[in-house]
Amino acid sequence: MAAQRGGRQVRAEQGHPGRGLGGFLTILSHKAESAGRELIAVNPANTSRTCSRCGHCPKENRVTQAGFRCTACGHTAHADVNAAVNILGAGPALRDAARAAWREAAPFRSGGVTPGKNAPLSTSTAAVS
Ligand SMILES: [Zn+2]
Repeated sequence: MAAQRGGRQVRAEQGHPGRGLGGFLTILSHKAESAGRELIAVNPANTSRTCSRCGHCPKENRVTQAGFRCTACGHTAHADVNAAVNILGAGPALRDAARAAWREAAPFRSGGVTPGKNAPLSTSTAAVS
């Protein structure tokens, strides 16, 4: 597919390796890393209808395209703001779950466990109780 841009004929960017959403996420990941930031991919399913205050998630929470009102706790917000708060919270939750799973799996990885560094969670839980 070709298109005109600036008087020159250029090929459409769709379908080229390294372009599109995957290419964008790769570039965004590199930019985030160079800025000392963390990029976490989050599943957006139900983020616009889940209450960012109490977690209640019926479709009736979404009263209009822009309006959000929780049928359980009464929380109201712009639907996009509510969804953004959910996404913001989902990233760190995913990261923490992945770290916990990594620590839990330490005894099963080759190379064993380094005490005090990647010891399984059950060890640190037992030390607390
Ligand atoms: Zn709620």
